[in-house]
Amino acid sequence: MAVEQIEDLMTFLDASPTAWHAVDILKTQLIARGFSFLAEGEPWKILPGKGYFTIKNGSSLCAFVAPHKAPSKVHLAASHTDSPSLKLKPAAEFYRDSMVLWGLEIYGGPLLTSWLNRDLGIAGRVVIQNQKGDLEEKLIRLDLHPCVIPQLAIHLDPQVNDTGVLLHKQNHLVALASLKLPDENISYLEWLLHQAVGKHAVLASDLFLFPLESASFVGHGREMLASYRIDSLASVHAIWKGLELSAQAADDCLKMAVFWDNEEVGSSTAQGAASPFLMHTLERILLSYGKSREDYFQLLENSLCLSVDLAHAVHPNYPERHDPLHQPVLGKGVVLKSNAKQRYASNARTAAVISRLCQKAHIPLQHFVSRGDMPCGSTIGPIHATLTGMPTVDIGSPQLSMHAARELMACEDHLSMIRLISAFFNRLLA
Ligand SMILES: [Zn+2]
Repeated sequence: MAVEQIEDLMTFLDASPTAWHAVDILKTQLIARGFSFLAEGEPWKILPGKGYFTIKNGSSLCAFVAPHKAPSKVHLAASHTDSPSLKLKPAAEFYRDSMVLWGLEIYGGPLLTSWLNRDLGIAGRVVIQNQKGDLEEKLIRLDLHPCVIPQLAIHLDPQVNDTGVLLHKQNHLVALASLKLPDENISYLEWLLHQAVGKHAVLASDLFLFPLESASFVGHGREMLASYRIDSLASVHAIWKGLELSAQAADDCLKMAVFWDNEEVGSSTAQGAASPFLMHTLERILLSYGKSREDYFQLLENSLCLSVDLAHAVHPNYPERHDPLHQPVLGKGVVLKSNAKQRYASNARTAAVISRLCQKAHIPLQHFVSRGDMPCGSTIGPIHATLTGMPTVDIGSPQLSMHAARELMACEDHLSMIRLISAFFNRLLA
């Protein structure tokens, strides 16, 4: 079971180069488990005891198991589907010295140097005009013709090992795509897209580069896992598996998972955690049980949200970057994240629930707080708490190389996270 869950995570990571791909896979898995799709633009009919999901922009997804009676509370686990990346500019292609080049924009906060010298594919979505003349969205994944962002040779940058790599965000983040145009009448990128969608006119696109290297095990006993997008697809996967393991309907508790796009760029989009997507979904569920707005406000207060995102494990080469008494270690369990300025939403009331769940389910728990002289990251927890007023706690699995094109985590921590989330959905805070 444990090995299968890790291999399932690796398959999910390899098949999800963008948020749209991750949501597409979740959609397939939800349908296979008997969940029904609810379209946002159509009336909803919700039957007690059944599972449902809805999707926003193709890149955010909310799934839930409707309780037997009208819900009085929600057990919600939330994470994000996007990761730091490099996005192709709308008119990306240009030519210099017989080279076909693509201009890129930075999405979120990637460790830029980790994208150098790697085989990079293109993935995302395009909107085409189909044969009927309608607009149609298509998922794109192009693996066969990698591009690369080559690093300057050490002979031309002799101080680099002493001063570090400094990349100019306009001039130095240009991908080398090809030397020749396969068809002189169209750009190389158009030619590539035609391979994927046929010769339809591509009207617009959201296309990102992604590392082609697959997820792999690291360490003697396959203890660790290396991949692109561990942050936060490992959390998405743990939540989905936790929900799947406890998918039987509760009496009056709504079991719910939400996976947000655009966390890495601040969440203020129509499909981000600062949007009304979740609030609208919750209200529509209550309305379908014949409940009122008064019931809705009571439900928000009686609920709990686990905001699940990755946490910083102590780095073997930089242990001094952590507070001496708060050094989460790879392989030693789930991390509870706190910050006095509330960059994480955890407080004593919500953290205590996690402590107790971990005690009861025998799940190891570690604590993270950043050093006093080090800035603290943040995640969707505080945004969700601010918007909904729902009690919220921030947790995550420890990882290294956060925001690199290849990140690292311990397999054991992923299994702990699945057990914690399934206990959260199953035990209903007992
Ligand atoms: Zn994250």
